[in-house]
Amino acid sequence: MTEENAIYYCLQCGTNKFKSVRANQFFCESCGFTYFQNIASSVAAIIECRNQILTCVREYDPCKGMMGLPGGFVDREESAELALKREIFEEVRIAVSEMHYVGSFPNVYQYKGVEYHTLDLFFSLRLKEKPQITIGDEIAAIEWIPREEITYEQFAFESMKKGLRRYLNGRSKA
Ligand SMILES: [Zn+2]
Repeated sequence: MTEENAIYYCLQCGTNKFKSVRANQFFCESCGFTYFQNIASSVAAIIECRNQILTCVREYDPCKGMMGLPGGFVDREESAELALKREIFEEVRIAVSEMHYVGSFPNVYQYKGVEYHTLDLFFSLRLKEKPQITIGDEIAAIEWIPREEITYEQFAFESMKKGLRRYLNGRSKA
């Protein structure tokens, strides 16, 4: 179901007079209740070692089997930097310190019939040596791909394609 033809029910009075009045904002014409469905923040890591990028095969939907980057949603009361460190550790079990901001790109994340609008923040990290990687949560496999062989179409989300493109076009080789 797309947002345009969806029927929404008011969280307060339960009538179907709950309308999407502008981006992120819902208003109930029956009881006056207002609700802001704000975007979520997420983070992703572009980890480079010897001109290769660490990519992950997604274990679960959305986009099961497609390429991804270590990362995920930012928790409440968490910084983007801490979220990135936490997600990297949860997914590939490596501890990282220094990171560089690459840029942010909006994304739409479909999960069980619900569209979540996100803002994805990309950070890059360079490692001198390839770490021992243990596959953790939400990852089916990992692969180090030479930066010249990255094909954007393999990646799950539009934001990832843009983040990778900005990083690979904008920075010298490691
Ligand atoms: Zn209402």
